[in-house]
Amino acid sequence: MSGFQSPRGLRDLLEPLASAHGWAVDRAWAAADAAGYARIELPFAEESALFERAVGGTSDIVSKELFRLEPRGDDAVALALRPEATAGMVRAYLQHGMRSQPQPVRLATVAHLFRYDRPQKGRYRQFTQFDVEAIGDSGPGSDLEVIALGAAYLRDLGLTDVEVHLNSVGCATCRPAFVALLQAHFASIAPQLSEVDRSRLAANPLRLLDSKEPVAVAHAATAPRITDHLCAACASHHAAITKGLATIGVTVVAAPSIVRGLDYYTRTAWEYLLPGEQGQQGALGGGGRYDGLVELLGGTATPAIGFAIGIDRVVLALEERGLLPEHAKGPAIVVAGIEPESIALRIATALELRAAGVSARADISSRKIGKQLEGAVRDGARAVIIVEPDGRLTLRDLTEASQGEPAERGAVIAAARRLVQGKG
Ligand code: AMP
Repeated sequence: MSGFQSPRGLRDLLEPLASAHGWAVDRAWAAADAAGYARIELPFAEESALFERAVGGTSDIVSKELFRLEPRGDDAVALALRPEATAGMVRAYLQHGMRSQPQPVRLATVAHLFRYDRPQKGRYRQFTQFDVEAIGDSGPGSDLEVIALGAAYLRDLGLTDVEVHLNSVGCATCRPAFVALLQAHFASIAPQLSEVDRSRLAANPLRLLDSKEPVAVAHAATAPRITDHLCAACASHHAAITKGLATIGVTVVAAPSIVRGLDYYTRTAWEYLLPGEQGQQGALGGGGRYDGLVELLGGTATPAIGFAIGIDRVVLALEERGLLPEHAKGPAIVVAGIEPESIALRIATALELRAAGVSARADISSRKIGKQLEGAVRDGARAVIIVEPDGRLTLRDLTEASQGEPAERGAVIAAARRLVQGKG
């Protein structure tokens, strides 16, 4: 055994998690296809400056957690592994002139992301998100469409009691007055706040609402709620979404602590949570309207909204509830052989079975036939096909412990197929 281990926070996924992960990813693409969201595959790395601009240089994601790549070569541009997908989506929207398409442009991706975070349960340094964006519509229709798409995806995976925790973060018209109110609320306890929270109080008081520090959490409970201080336009937008989600049949919970710390976020912000789970750590995903981001990245002012659902968290939730899908535990058919010379023919037969839609592997050993049969039983195979010395095949049903006569290849492969598919 070598002394190498996978790096901290970077996991191997073994069965049954590997299959569950792949299944959740396949379902994500299928959900996007069915809703008319165009697939997009983004590169794993972008210019660091894109994330610095889009996510914000002072955010944890950029200031502490970015996996920066060493610049090399002549065109030495500083690159970083992507910590989120939205920045790349908006960059692609601008780069490929999607502004000239009918709006909103509906895009979906499944992205492996990297954050140099402190690893713990449900928090890894490499993880996967299902990311959906609708760019170019100011809502509330696109808000409803996007929120409902994520909720339906989670519900269809079996997480039927998923809740949407919903807030509005207002806009440039109403947010400043609310931020001032919030600042005044927390100023009275400033000396008791942690150093990080004191700097938030000065620079970005909204972030105090999602602080994890006990003093801030306690004081946040009595803080003014932004939804009580929205301008008329934001209030009617928020009301339309609350009402629309009720019509669609999505469970909504008012969540005044869901805030996005950056200026380009506007109005709708939400998280997907299971009952009893805490926000942030326990969230399956989150989303928000970001009407200021396209402009921030060099485009003309364009409204947009999107969500990111963490596939790793989804799989964890399915596992905790005993809802992991069945994974293939072994081939249905093992192709054995009397003579060592038949190994190539066994492999050819296994290939033929797979082409006919039957999972199969060849026994590639020179063991006695009895040992090969034992191996097939251990693998949980339904049947064994034995390659006879004359090239004919014999089908042995392991469940019934019965064996047919040697017969021609085509007939035996057809019989094996009927047996495995339950029609024989
Ligand atoms: P965020 O992009 O931080 O808003 O996160 C959106 C979702 O991605 C979260 O609700 C999680 O499901 C997932 N997520 C974020 N960070 C991690 C991480 N380090 N490990 C696993 N999943 C994560």
